[in-house]
Amino acid sequence: MTAASGSGTDGSSAGSTEKTAETARIDEPVDVAIVGGGLIGASVALGLARSPLSVALIEPAPPRPTPPSWDERCIAINHVSHRILDALGVWPELSRAAAPILSTHISEQGRFGVARFSADEAGLEALGYNVPIHRIGELLWQRVLAHGHARIFAPMRVAALTMHAHHVALALDGGGTLAARLVVAADGADSPLRRLLGVDTEHRDYAQSAIVTAVRCTRPHRGCAYERFTCGGPLALLPKPWAAEEHLCSLIWTTPAAEVASRMAWSDAEFLAQAQAAFGERLGRFVELGRRQAYPLARVVSRRVHAPRVVFVGNAAQSLHPVAAQGFNLGLRDAATLIELLAGHRGDPGDGELLQRYADLRSADRRRVADFTDGLVRVFSNRLPGLRGLRHLGLLALDLLPPLREAVLWQNLGYAGYTPAVARTPR
Ligand SMILES: Cc1cc2nc3c(=O)[nH]c(=O)nc-3n(C[C@H](O)[C@H](O)[C@H](O)COP(=O)(O)OP(=O)(O)OC[C@H]3O[C@@H](n4cnc5c(N)ncnc54)[C@H](O)[C@@H]3O)c2cc1C
Repeated sequence: MTAASGSGTDGSSAGSTEKTAETARIDEPVDVAIVGGGLIGASVALGLARSPLSVALIEPAPPRPTPPSWDERCIAINHVSHRILDALGVWPELSRAAAPILSTHISEQGRFGVARFSADEAGLEALGYNVPIHRIGELLWQRVLAHGHARIFAPMRVAALTMHAHHVALALDGGGTLAARLVVAADGADSPLRRLLGVDTEHRDYAQSAIVTAVRCTRPHRGCAYERFTCGGPLALLPKPWAAEEHLCSLIWTTPAAEVASRMAWSDAEFLAQAQAAFGERLGRFVELGRRQAYPLARVVSRRVHAPRVVFVGNAAQSLHPVAAQGFNLGLRDAATLIELLAGHRGDPGDGELLQRYADLRSADRRRVADFTDGLVRVFSNRLPGLRGLRHLGLLALDLLPPLREAVLWQNLGYAGYTPAVARTPR
């Protein structure tokens, strides 16, 4: 079977690839070709750096090192992700750029119900960490290059693929073809490989965008992450890592599609005032605003996470609404599970039984987290009046019912299904 694609995505791979790209040619197939060098593809490449498997990493984005800035985009990583990043060897350095999340505070505008979680109740140092996204990518890529194990094909993209009995032939748009026994599709939410293979998705356009920025507040956040459900959409404020300053927060405001253009056009003063009115005074006054970026939001869940000699990981397997901050966390568990299975496997890495085992191990975790996230969006971003009471009850139950609290807490820490061995014992 042969399939070809004329388009690609503009994902967010980071890091400087000083190594010159190779020209691909079919000679001996590589054991594993990773298509996409975003956070998840680079994690898989690093996790395989000590394995006897030969590895290729293909990424179209050119190197673009970004100097740190106070308003750079961050993502929240949970406890399991922190353990996986530690096992990959990047955590000691990454931790210097990470703001610990010691507690969370979930509320709804105009209601008293509040749900709180703390690292103390979980017996952990932190519930998670807010980390600059570019720094994660930069460190992963630095380590991949330092190991020198993976052959790097960048900037290049996969334009077509042909299935053979014992390998997949990947045609690269930079010229040449690469043969691989196993293809790891880490090519993002729009996954060109998924389209080339005709794999179906569940797709829901939320008709919302996330406006992401940073704010300076007059009161310290003290490590607390806030989620506030407002009639203008959920608004999250998370501690931001910047020179140990406790007054900076990442701000993520889910915005109905019809209001995105006007919110993006507000002056900084107007935006600060409107966000303040929605969030309230818990962090004092909002006094400085960072750059704003808007991300259209959709749920794209692949109906299958494997095809013959191909597996899907990260956003290529499932791309979620960021309201529960789970997309990268879930994708990293895809990566760690795959790395673990490949490490324990002898023989053909494209073996159908191995890929089925991957799909089975990932199934419960993917379904649970994707459905939980979707449920939150539907109940909490919906303006139907009947849902207000339900939301209120939900928050009260979350605060007062120990079994529910426990289940939600451990799910958000990353323990929602099969836990990769490197993160198995909570500590
Ligand atoms: C506003 C917002 C906030 C978020 N906050 C959080 C959070 O707090 N916590 C969390 O866990 N998650 C969060 N997420 C989700 C998280 O950012 C993503 O899940 C994660 O970055 C996905 O990484 P990825 O490597 O799977 O995909 P991508 O970053 O999309 O990488 C895909 C890669 O594939 C490459 N590629 C594309 N086409 C080809 C091709 N033809 N050939 C080769 N390569 C190709 C691209 O160049 C890209 O580098 C958030 C998302 C958004 C939008």
